[in-house]
Amino acid sequence: MSLISDNLQVVRAQLTACAHNSGRNPANICLLAVSKTFGADAVVEAASHGQSCFGENYLQEAIDKIAEVQRLAPELTLDWHFIGPIQSNKTRQIAEHFSWVHSVDREKIASRLSEQRPAELAPLNICLQVNISGEASKSGVMPEQLFALAKAVVALPHLRLRGLMAVPEASDDVARQRQAFSQLRQLKESLSGQGIELDTLSMGMSGDMNSAIAEGSTMLRIGSAIFGKRTYAE
Ligand SMILES: *Cc1c(COP(=O)(O)O)cnc(C)c1O
Repeated sequence: MSLISDNLQVVRAQLTACAHNSGRNPANICLLAVSKTFGADAVVEAASHGQSCFGENYLQEAIDKIAEVQRLAPELTLDWHFIGPIQSNKTRQIAEHFSWVHSVDREKIASRLSEQRPAELAPLNICLQVNISGEASKSGVMPEQLFALAKAVVALPHLRLRGLMAVPEASDDVARQRQAFSQLRQLKESLSGQGIELDTLSMGMSGDMNSAIAEGSTMLRIGSAIFGKRTYAE
């Protein structure tokens, strides 16, 4: 057994146990393996143990890796999710190579992604990154601007608005973790009250996945718990 397959088993068991503790169906929680800084071989290894969704933060690294995985294992069909900061001059490659983008936080980026999404591909699945209080990264739309952005994205033809994403400040305090995730869940409920129904809450990383599941996460973004410690900083 490889380390990655051991880790995947542990993470899946934790996901299942935690879902049950929260009265949730584990089948409604997708595990996204965040492979940033790890090579194509690690992705192929995880895929050989049933993992099919992968998240990447750095565009050039991701494009190279996607091509390399394709070369190593052409039989694999994987779902690639872009979860990192987006520069507006990089939207075309994102629109061409990914099936999801979790880090949309302004209308300009959204409209470029829609324009540049190749017509032969399905609409690009979008999560809006929200800057909930204490968000670790500086990115994310402010909650007060979320409804306007969501309305604009819904109107774009080659995008499909799926949900909300957040990266709360890392904390060992479960109450603080849950408070941040609860805010994101409430924002999703408030959009629903305004006629925008979303099916995805992209929240929870290696250090806070239990809290995220308890607060309704439908997509965990797990890196180090699957692939090990990263050797260069994010
Ligand atoms: C790196 C990263 C993750 C994964 O973090 P881990 O703590 O390694 O699980 C999840 N989401 C985003 C946006 C990231 O940048």
